[in-house]
Amino acid sequence: MTQSDAQTSHDSAFEAAYQAARKSLGEGGIPIGAALARGGVVIASGHNERVQNGDPIAHGEMSALRAAGRQKSYRDTTLYTTLAPCAMCTGTIIQFKIPRVVVGEARTFGGEFELLRSRGVEVVVLDDQRCVDMMRTFQEENPELWAEDIAE
Ligand SMILES: [Zn+2]
Repeated sequence: MTQSDAQTSHDSAFEAAYQAARKSLGEGGIPIGAALARGGVVIASGHNERVQNGDPIAHGEMSALRAAGRQKSYRDTTLYTTLAPCAMCTGTIIQFKIPRVVVGEARTFGGEFELLRSRGVEVVVLDDQRCVDMMRTFQEENPELWAEDIAE
């Protein structure tokens, strides 16, 4: 995958993240999905499982990384996520030295871009309207569940 490929919303790895978010929404869960890719090939995807598994740590990014299993190195990977990563997921990205994060949108939640960039992580924001609409609707319909997920 070239750099420019990854900057479109129609990248297959980003689509995997988006579809994972849709799946979560369909299950009554929080619609945030993520995918880990290497060389344009999806290793694994996952979605937020707070509601489904009663697991507060299972954000989309964490679920995708768990699904990917052990990796010798993350230096050649890109993490795709439908929403800007929170502090917990940002910490995990830094810990595993994932060099690049492609984010669907950062309008409904600002995330920790400054922290990511300060640690040398490249952040690409797609500003995907589907992701904005999905989160906005979810936040309006489930304000308490959303507040719980971001600990507010
Ligand atoms: Zn998170």
